[in-house]
Formats: sequence, structure tokens, C-alpha cells
Amino acid sequence: MMAILTGPCEFSRRHLGELLSFAAEHCQLLPIRDAELPEDGRPRTYLRHDIDHSMLDALDVAALEAEHGVRSTYFVQLHSTFYDVMSEQGHGQLRRLVELGHEVGFHYDITYYRRTGQSIEAAFRRDLALLGDLVGQPVRSISRHDPSAAHLEPELLAKIRGAAPFDAYASPFFEQGRYISDSTGSFRSGCWCRHLGEGRKPPLQVLIHPIWWGEQAQQWQARLRSSAEREARQRVAAVDDIIDYYQRFLDMGRDFAGKNA
Ligand SMILES: [Zn+2]
Ligand SMILES: [Zn+2]
Repeated sequence: MMAILTGPCEFSRRHLGELLSFAAEHCQLLPIRDAELPEDGRPRTYLRHDIDHSMLDALDVAALEAEHGVRSTYFVQLHSTFYDVMSEQGHGQLRRLVELGHEVGFHYDITYYRRTGQSIEAAFRRDLALLGDLVGQPVRSISRHDPSAAHLEPELLAKIRGAAPFDAYASPFFEQGRYISDSTGSFRSGCWCRHLGEGRKPPLQVLIHPIWWGEQAQQWQARLRSSAEREARQRVAAVDDIIDYYQRFLDMGRDFAGKNA
């Protein structure tokens, strides 16, 4: 175990903080967009996050990284069941990621396009441009959601890869690089801390899903539920504001058009 560890290796904010602290000093830690930066002598690591469940968790990790001077890539979806970057709140969250110095990439979902009968290429290009508009700069990096469930014909994949400079599942991030992921709340080839002392090349890509790294280490099912409950509490609080607003109109005896019945 690395000397950097002051506590157990676990999915917690504390452990993530010490991983970031060590990596920021000893690795050339980069977002995907910076692949063309020259090497600086330290082992190169690309740090990426796929946002499948919660922008609130993503922003917590984004702020933690900023405290450590780390910049990474946040891959967001446009058609998630769990968060909405088109909403005013979600748009603000995207801008906050950029303010913290991070890259916003597109986490595209082929299965959604298929289920809804859309042309994959046209819908992908539309969404890529839309996300760029929301972020205020062109989106340079893409990652595919659930690649195991979303087989793509090679010609279509080539077209999609042609629309953005960097694909996290292509060279030099994946095919010729090393890759570790905490998908489903489990590192199959060992936690990031086991790889931090490795000086070897080629570069390492680390995929961290912020959802798993809560304040306290929890079972993955409990993390999913507590994260969803946190998002839901925000919506309920917004509904409470609307209730107060409607009540004021009722108290005044008029409707929204200002007309007394
Ligand atoms: Zn660890
Ligand atoms: Zn995903």
C-alpha cells in the first residue's frame, strides 16, 4: 500500500482527496482535451468522469479537484432520467464546472437514440452542438455511455469520432493506453491508489464516477439511493417555493394575468 494512505482504501471523499493530492504532485494529471500538451517527465494520467446519475455529486468532486489544483473532464448526458442540463439549474451547473477549470465533454447514449427512433448521426451532431452552446465553447471530447450495450457499426463510429477531436475510448486514451474504471462501484483491476506509484508508460486513463465517492463509504446501492434522494430534495424545495408563490396570488384574489375574477 502506498505511503500516501492515511486511512482505508474505500469509496469515500476522504480517500478520493488523498488520491488527488498524490496524483496532482506526482503525475501529469490532465483532462482529455489536453492530450496534445507536451510530456513533463511525470507519468501521464487522464482523469475523466462520466455523469450518469447526479450533477450535485459531480460538482462536489469538481470542487474537491479544484482545491487540489486538478482539472479533469466531466462527460455529461443531455437526456438523462436523473438530471437535466437544459434546466436553468443544470445550465448553471455546467457553467460552474467550466469556472472551476474543468472540461465538459459529451457522454452520448446510443441506446436512447435507438429507443426513440432518431438517426444516430444526426441526433449526435445536434446534441454535440447544443451542449457546446450551453457550455459556451465547442465540445472537444466525447465518451459513449454503456459501451457494452451500445454496439456501433464501424462506419457510424468513424463518423461520430470525426465530429469531435477526442474520444475517450480511442487512441491515445484507451486502445493504446492503460485504463481503470470504478464502473458499478468496483475497480476490477484495483483502486487508483494501487496504480499511483507506477511510473510506466503508456498513459493511464482513470474513469471516476463521482456517484460512488460520497462523504461516507457506503454500499453502492445505498449510494445510488442517497444521491437520488439528495437530487429529489432540491426539487421538493423548489416546489415549496412555488407553493408559496401560488399562495400569494390566491391571497391577493387574482390570477397570473393580473385579472380579478
Ligand atoms: Zn484506494
Ligand atoms: Zn455512462
